[in-house]
Amino acid sequence: MGPFNFKEYKPQGKRDQYFLKNKEIAREQVDRADVQKDDIVLEVGAGIGNLTQEILTRKPKKIKIIEKDRELLKILKEKFKNSNVEIIEGNALKKDFESFDKSISNLPYSISSEITFKLLNYQFKSAVWMYQKEFAERIVATSGTKRYGRLTVNVKYFANVQLIREVSKNNFEPQPEVDSAIISIEPKEKLPKLLDQDLFFDLTRAVFTQRRKKLKNALENTIHMISELEKNDFKNVKSKLTQYLHKRPEEITPEEYVEISNKIKRTVSDE
Ligand code: SAM
Repeated sequence: MGPFNFKEYKPQGKRDQYFLKNKEIAREQVDRADVQKDDIVLEVGAGIGNLTQEILTRKPKKIKIIEKDRELLKILKEKFKNSNVEIIEGNALKKDFESFDKSISNLPYSISSEITFKLLNYQFKSAVWMYQKEFAERIVATSGTKRYGRLTVNVKYFANVQLIREVSKNNFEPQPEVDSAIISIEPKEKLPKLLDQDLFFDLTRAVFTQRRKKLKNALENTIHMISELEKNDFKNVKSKLTQYLHKRPEEITPEEYVEISNKIKRTVSDE
């Protein structure tokens, strides 16, 4: 199996346009997604369709690809004109994905965060997505490690995530400055019971601005960022959180954040 060729398009080094050269990696991504004949597969940022072609070899029911670059769209339309590939033209952040079973993508890295949270609003079985390595590490991080943060906690609320492999930058044309990594994202069948999602997201946004402080101080310093706390008796809330107050935000697990958020909600609702 040779590398992908770039006869039809000379990569121009435009922002977010790093094309995968290595077919083995594309194949590994598709294997990992375990594409079945009745699957609808979504690909964000199809480029010249090299990953799309690999997905096509598994003969899924349909592949939906999204691409915003006009020149690339011309190539994609020609390449997939007699196939079950549906081409969605435009910005993936603004397009409705509608329904899909699996997603396989080498993402445009500048939209990593927004597109991940968009993905998590849909019902699907699994996604095998390639990100910049550091971003992928932040998603899969465990509490107490350097990369663990708000992104980790928020994504892990919705999904089980796993690092599949790192991909060195020399597998792309042109070569980007940083390495990449592939992760799998599987939405949880049942989400942890959260009494107030907004409060949970406010809480994690606020305390991770103070990741090395004790939670007690982190909360005190960021109370203006958590509207449910701002309006209520903070002393009372603190008395319900004693088991967590001495921990640093970076040491608190995603499950504990759910608990903390729910304890705050219950306390302020009782006041
Ligand atoms: N799938 C190809 C591959 O594996 O080689 C291309 C991956 S490349 C990293 C990302 C692609 O996303 C580029 O083709 C780029 O034009 C496209 N892109 C960038 N921003 C986008 C957006 N907001 N919506 C849709 N496509 C986008």
